[in-house]
Amino acid sequence: MEDCIFCKIVRGEIPSWKVYEDEHAYAFLDINPVSAYHTLVIPKKHFVDSFDIPAEEFAHLMETLKKIVDLYHEKLGLENMQIVNSSGAEAQQDVFHIHYHIVPRSAGDGNNIQWKTHPELRDQFGAMLQKLAD
Ligand code: 5GP
Ligand code: ZN
Repeated sequence: MEDCIFCKIVRGEIPSWKVYEDEHAYAFLDINPVSAYHTLVIPKKHFVDSFDIPAEEFAHLMETLKKIVDLYHEKLGLENMQIVNSSGAEAQQDVFHIHYHIVPRSAGDGNNIQWKTHPELRDQFGAMLQKLAD
């Protein structure tokens, strides 16, 4: 993908702060970190999002995430982190080359995710699950 910013990073056309690299995956520091070691993990091949990526490539991406999480745990003693992926513009995806954020967290960092819950949806659970079975 010629114009994709993350493909350009993989090709070395844009500088990045590499954390880890192997044949299939690349991990680097987010340019706008919300905490120290905020990291993006991507496949080297261009896939748009969690829908687009084939299962095998996805599995490798998950293995890479685990490597980084363990690295940060062992080397830095980090014990709190959130792993976030946005797939789709309405799900807050901004860069359309699939990426997972690893966000180290600490008490009072102001980065709590505030989900608005809808308990009234419980009434629809039966119909929702039926739709999957149809
Ligand atoms: P999204 O909102 O799609 O989940 O996250 C995109 C992330 O990519 C943002 O956190 C943004 O800071 C990061 N980002 C965008 N452009 C660059 C770049 O050129 N270099 C790096 N290291 N990160 C980038
Ligand atoms: Zn790309």
